[in-house]
Amino acid sequence: MKAVVCKDAELAVAERPDPVPGEGQLLVDVLRCGICGSDLHARHQADELADVAAEIGYEGGMRSDQEVVLGHEFCGEIVDHGPGCRASSPTGTPVVALPLVRHGGEVHPIGLSAAAPGAYAERLVVQEALALPVPNGLRPDVAALTEPLAVAWHAVRRSDVKRRTVAVVVGCGPIGLGVILMLKARGVRHVVASDFSPGRRALAERCGADLVVDPGVDSPYAGDHGHLTNAPDAFDLALDTVDRLRRQPVPWWHVWRAAEALGAGPKSPVVFECVGVPGVIDDIIASVPLFSRVVVVGVCMGADQIRPALAINKEIELRFVLGYTPPEFRETLHMLADGKVDPSPLLTGVVGLEGVEGAFGALGEADEHAKILIDPKRPDAELPA
Ligand SMILES: [Zn+2]
Repeated sequence: MKAVVCKDAELAVAERPDPVPGEGQLLVDVLRCGICGSDLHARHQADELADVAAEIGYEGGMRSDQEVVLGHEFCGEIVDHGPGCRASSPTGTPVVALPLVRHGGEVHPIGLSAAAPGAYAERLVVQEALALPVPNGLRPDVAALTEPLAVAWHAVRRSDVKRRTVAVVVGCGPIGLGVILMLKARGVRHVVASDFSPGRRALAERCGADLVVDPGVDSPYAGDHGHLTNAPDAFDLALDTVDRLRRQPVPWWHVWRAAEALGAGPKSPVVFECVGVPGVIDDIIASVPLFSRVVVVGVCMGADQIRPALAINKEIELRFVLGYTPPEFRETLHMLADGKVDPSPLLTGVVGLEGVEGAFGALGEADEHAKILIDPKRPDAELPA
């Protein structure tokens, strides 16, 4: 079969042996596979990523000198069942799958390890237990977005955002756009999107952002939302509140505690960091209102600097999120199939295997592209205009 192989930061179309499904595994014919920001990182910073994985005990991350088939955001059709499969979905069933596979007793991330070839290929092997049939005749283009949108759904769920919370999305690449879609699906009323690129701002608007801001011109944290933006206001509020409560016949600290238990207190936004370059987290800490929660979704490689004293003075909460749980993955697939989320603004191009190199170039420049899909059966090397 044909596959795109990554080695020494080079991408090349190559002939590879047809994969063989092992115990409890499916052989899947790839219909679509998304190109992820992680793939762009993996191509050029594989060793750095592998070192981070090794620090948490996983030694199988791809290394730059290995031959790796990338691709973890895929939709395909079952062509064969390995031994010991339950075979609840027959051959020909379109499926998506969580990108983890067990080889030789060890579980590897599909498309990010030499031990688990990904879906930049005509076929790949997935774990039957982690595969889900695509419902409602959902198009493969859309089904392939299950994985990246599950990442966004996980970020939104882990953020504990409420419908009335102001949500600010910093960075409108594929992850930021996914977060906007999922915030709106969750019913969050006021979603602000911020990006320097006019192309990405236009996509953010199409994804349902209520306010789209060019951070070079306006602050995404402006507006009258009742947020505390400076220390003097916080001091005034504390003193005035105690003063007011002391005029009541009940002890003021009981009333304060009761109000606290009911969720009263200074309002603050939830901010999603979806850029992942050095300096962004500190810039967010410096610009957000007091008591903001910052959910870090963007992956910044290497070291970064923040000013903890500034974060402490504003009581900023930092929360880092990764991936998704199996139920979140399934839920995302069904939100797509039920039409609760329309990701069509995200889909900006489809290429054949020969077009992957060019697609990486286009995504590196970022501006008008969000998600480019690979269709291994497509002969054309060029991105459609
Ligand atoms: Zn990804």
